[in-house]
Amino acid sequence: MNDDFVIKVKNLTKSYGNKLAVKGMDLKIRRGEIFALLGPNGAGKTTVIEILEGHRSRTSGDVAVLGHDPEENKPSFRNRLGIVLQDNGIEPYLKVGEILEQYIGFYENPKTVEEILLTTSLSEQRDSYPKQLSGGQQRRLDFAICLCGDPDLLFLDEPTTGFDPSARRSAWDLILDLKSLGKTIVLTTHYMDEAEALADRIALMRGGLIVSEGKLSDLRNSQE
Ligand code: ATP
Repeated sequence: MNDDFVIKVKNLTKSYGNKLAVKGMDLKIRRGEIFALLGPNGAGKTTVIEILEGHRSRTSGDVAVLGHDPEENKPSFRNRLGIVLQDNGIEPYLKVGEILEQYIGFYENPKTVEEILLTTSLSEQRDSYPKQLSGGQQRRLDFAICLCGDPDLLFLDEPTTGFDPSARRSAWDLILDLKSLGKTIVLTTHYMDEAEALADRIALMRGGLIVSEGKLSDLRNSQE
């Protein structure tokens, strides 16, 4: 196995009843890169991401994530993943610092609350309740929770949907900071400018298949 690839997918398919949602997909994602999965509604992005996270079973094909088959769902695999969902169901009655302490308790080798607050620029909000945070700060809290276990691989599902431009810019900065810490980041987005600002490589999905893949500049050249 080539260790440079943290995700390796070969001939992946997924059927929902009679519907073939993923139709034989190949994908490789390198350690330390930001990889964006783009495509219209129904293309199959969420299905693929959930299979990689171990939240959904596949119909056929080979999948290795951090050297594991995600379907086995071992704790040694789960602890290395960070998943930022659109809605994490944050406990509203705890302060930001207390929320992070609670999550840190789930992991064997967690980061400290101070480190996480610093990385996500939330140090001043440590004693605030979630409802007192701005939209951008709430999103950073979602990231902060995902960083508690010091994951190697992050999955970000539409990380800036519904953001105003400044919150968006601050989420992008945070994602780039996480990359500089050596994290591998897989994100889904509907926005080409977001992929352009963040991603080292992009895959365009349509109808359950990757229709093109590469650096954005290469994809642009191939369409000209
Ligand atoms: P979006 O951008 O809207 O989130 P997507 O690219 O993430 O779309 P998926 O959610 O993976 O696409 O859906 C791919 C196809 O599989 C769609 O046709 C969808 O209707 C179908 N599908 C997804 N989940 C299920 C399910 N649980 N049962 C049946 N069909 C499903």
